[in-house]
Amino acid sequence: MIALRCPVRGCGAPLRREGARLLDDAGHSFDLAKSGYVNLLQPQDRRSLRPGDPDEAVAARRRLFDAGAGAALIDALAAAVGGLGLPAGARTLDLGSGEGSILGALALRLGLEAVGVELSARAADLAARRFPGVLWVVANADRALPLADASVDLVLSVAARRNPAECARVLAPGGRLVVALPAPDDLAELREAVLGGAAREERADKVVREHAGRFALVSRGVVRERRDFPAAQLADLLAATYRGGRAGRRERAAGLDGLAVTQSQELLVFALTAPGVPVTP
Ligand SMILES: [Zn+2]
Repeated sequence: MIALRCPVRGCGAPLRREGARLLDDAGHSFDLAKSGYVNLLQPQDRRSLRPGDPDEAVAARRRLFDAGAGAALIDALAAAVGGLGLPAGARTLDLGSGEGSILGALALRLGLEAVGVELSARAADLAARRFPGVLWVVANADRALPLADASVDLVLSVAARRNPAECARVLAPGGRLVVALPAPDDLAELREAVLGGAAREERADKVVREHAGRFALVSRGVVRERRDFPAAQLADLLAATYRGGRAGRRERAAGLDGLAVTQSQELLVFALTAPGVPVTP
């Protein structure tokens, strides 16, 4: 198991697994849910009573992946990770792993030992049901991560959370960080149809700057795929992408018969240059 640490404030002791729970020597204990995920979210890291993406967005993403909408991205990530020269069974953390389709597929395809950190318990539950070979942890990826220092070889951040300081801390020397984020033309046709053509900003440069000092950019590329989406999937794309999916947008999407839409992600590969500073949670 990837070395986890106790999330209780001021503790940080190593967690070990005994049966259906994780526990430490300080007397803290966390039960695994029936589906196999473990909730390590602490009250101080919770932002609402139901933290994380709305269930509707989680379900929409799962349906899109099941329909093959993320296949090109998964292929590109598998190629990028496969080309990193990491050891067999590389220890991998996915920051903001959602309903798990990407990490689950990569872990199976590349033989990774993987842990997914996700704020939504509903998403972690869906992930655990489908991919029992990965450890799914409910925690806030924006805060102190419940992983030990230098405990992973690879961190993934796929259209999700970023946390440069904590990524540097949990990565072992020589570790790699792979970030995927929407490119400016991501969902361009859909945005044109329902948002009136709002331009999407270039964000990759900002991400590179965020990581400067701890990480060096190794490579940068774009994964682009255009496919026909039937009406129901357009609604899912909106729900998956735009928090809350406003009613006006949905009505305009409902008026579409179907649409060819570009999905486009920037793929950034970073190498850890300055190992992180150990901190207690
Ligand atoms: Zn503890």
